Amino acid sequence: MQVSPPNLGAFPLDETVTLDDQGRLQTEVRCQRCGYNLRTQLLDAACPECGRSVGESVVSFKLRAQNKIERTKALKSLAKSGLRITIAVLVVYLLLSIRQVRGTEISPDTLRVRNYTFWTFVPFGTNFSLTSPSYGSSRGSPLQEHLVERGLVKNSENGRWWLCSSARPFNRLSKGPMFNLSYGGRFTNGESTQWVEWSNAHPQLADELWPAVVEFVRHDPLVGVGFATQLLHGNENQNSMTLEELQEEISRMRKVLATVPSEDEQR
Ligand SMILES: [Zn+2]
Repeated sequence: MQVSPPNLGAFPLDETVTLDDQGRLQTEVRCQRCGYNLRTQLLDAACPECGRSVGESVVSFKLRAQNKIERTKALKSLAKSGLRITIAVLVVYLLLSIRQVRGTEISPDTLRVRNYTFWTFVPFGTNFSLTSPSYGSSRGSPLQEHLVERGLVKNSENGRWWLCSSARPFNRLSKGPMFNLSYGGRFTNGESTQWVEWSNAHPQLADELWPAVVEFVRHDPLVGVGFATQLLHGNENQNSMTLEELQEEISRMRKVLATVPSEDEQR
């Protein structure tokens, strides 16, 4: 039985369906209706089993093969662009992981303040320092200069430096031992002018307070600095202690500190 060959123009033969020299199918194409293997059949023949056009079965076979190829292509390009996006996101994330840390330190010895910066790399919750800190020059403040005048501290770049605060972008401030002491700019800037004014208004209290504050701050970053902070707090906001209260508080703190190893002893 002869059937007219289907129009294969839209589906030219290619590697998905091949013919031999005599125009017989070399590819295993199943009959669309009965599943018979049409290999060795001519394109314009009919299925020996059910009489369906071989050509039509070939056309639908090619369609399926073509769909499969296109689906694979689409998946591949999707995977490729997915990979590209992933790499781009990763690169941006890694670039954002390079952060500058800025911090402030106060010297317990001179009560001068200095800033520092360094770069860190903080991907995936890790933390690597990329550079060592670079320090700005230290500065005094009205209160610090007042304590220099009193002969309690010296102006020097030398001495120990304890952390006040540090932060990198997108992160909370981390606070060091000197943070509470310097809170509100007590030591670090022009806010400390009010302490100079307080000293001038309360000369007796000031003569007791400042030597104790300097002594305690230098003792150790935890208990000593804590006590110095407490003494400042007790005399803040025009609500000073009486001279007796202050003296009692200082001698009480001094007794406690005698039992706490100083920072020098701990080293
Ligand atoms: Zn058939």
